[in-house]
Amino acid sequence: METILPLWWVFLSGAIMGSFLNVCIYRIPRGESIVFPGSHCVSCGRPLPPAELIPIASYVIQQGKCRGCGEAVSIQYPLVEALTGAIFAGLYAFYGGISSDWAAAAAMAAFLIVIAIIDLHHKIIPNAVLLVALLPIAVWLGWKVHGANGDVSIILNSLLGAGFGAALLFAVFWFSNGGLGLGDVKFAFVFGLMLGWPGALWAMTLAALIGSVVGIAGMVAGKWTRKTEVPFGPFLAIGYFAVYLILGSRLGDILYSFLFLQ
Ligand SMILES: [Zn+2]
Repeated sequence: METILPLWWVFLSGAIMGSFLNVCIYRIPRGESIVFPGSHCVSCGRPLPPAELIPIASYVIQQGKCRGCGEAVSIQYPLVEALTGAIFAGLYAFYGGISSDWAAAAAMAAFLIVIAIIDLHHKIIPNAVLLVALLPIAVWLGWKVHGANGDVSIILNSLLGAGFGAALLFAVFWFSNGGLGLGDVKFAFVFGLMLGWPGALWAMTLAALIGSVVGIAGMVAGKWTRKTEVPFGPFLAIGYFAVYLILGSRLGDILYSFLFLQ
């Protein structure tokens, strides 16, 4: 089932979703409800009227300031809205329309954005986000098994990918003395379910590779030292998402036949 929508409409729905993700990113690590109270300025607490809740546009019109107290609003708000919009629209182009594949990838992206940015700020990956992600992932797995005429080996493969990533990161956690958190271990388990084996291996390799390149760049630029704690969650998010897309596309088949000469 595919529906054809204008691309700007898909971008806008992504930006609106991004606006909700901003609420999750701010409130979940603070233990606040993501529903009540409604959106308000984090400096003065003034509730925001609908005109100030338009994704990206409100920030630009208000020149990045709260209309009540004049405090600067973080640039992260419009950036997350634009990023989510761009990913939703990009996936629309990638999958050629709105489909169940589009929905699965868009939902995965939404969870990963929240996880990556919370980890950047707080160096934690909240259990609540991972637990909530498990529900759609379970539905997605069931749908895949159904599509494969009840072939349960798909679930075994999923568990293998999840177990591999979690075991590897747990070993790193154990021997590195805090170089990694248990949140990373749980992340690898939950999203490893979507990649299976050997997808989780590629994803972990890519995350470690990007993490090393960024880490070395940070040290060369003199911003970080060897002791700087760089959260691994954002790299895991990029690695797992990129490999998920590659595996589910023709590019994955091409790469696979190239690597294994089939
Ligand atoms: Zn304010």
